[in-house]
Amino acid sequence: MKCPTCWNVDTKVVDSRVVEWGYAIRRRRECEYCEERFTTFERRWNTDLVVIKRDGTKELYDRMKIKKALLLAFAKREMTNEAMEEMINSLEMKWTKSGSEINSQDIGKDIVRLLKEKDPVAYVRFASVYLSFNTLDDFKHLLKE
Ligand SMILES: [Zn+2]
Repeated sequence: MKCPTCWNVDTKVVDSRVVEWGYAIRRRRECEYCEERFTTFERRWNTDLVVIKRDGTKELYDRMKIKKALLLAFAKREMTNEAMEEMINSLEMKWTKSGSEINSQDIGKDIVRLLKEKDPVAYVRFASVYLSFNTLDDFKHLLKE
């Protein structure tokens, strides 16, 4: 893999460890020219998963979208990056097991369910954005649950 700093093609792996409950490998690499160190991750690529949106259009599943939503939900909360990646891995495993297509609403519901267990603040933040409540009463009802 090319060095991101000097674009030299010769980089070596200086450390390699299994992370995220064994579903990913984290590697530290070092450029043999400028000695820059950088990190790469290896995990399964869920190319086959298609998301059906509310309006019926389809798009390829994008892990980064889930990650961005979780980063917002957990802003200033105690949550490590690895724990967050593990959460996404467990969700992806569920989604890919149930078929090659998934509704965006089901994705939202699964995340809400998971956040409810993990962190009440992240849960409310995510729910308020992604479940798009129709009325304030809907939201109050959710908070009571
Ligand atoms: Zn370099």
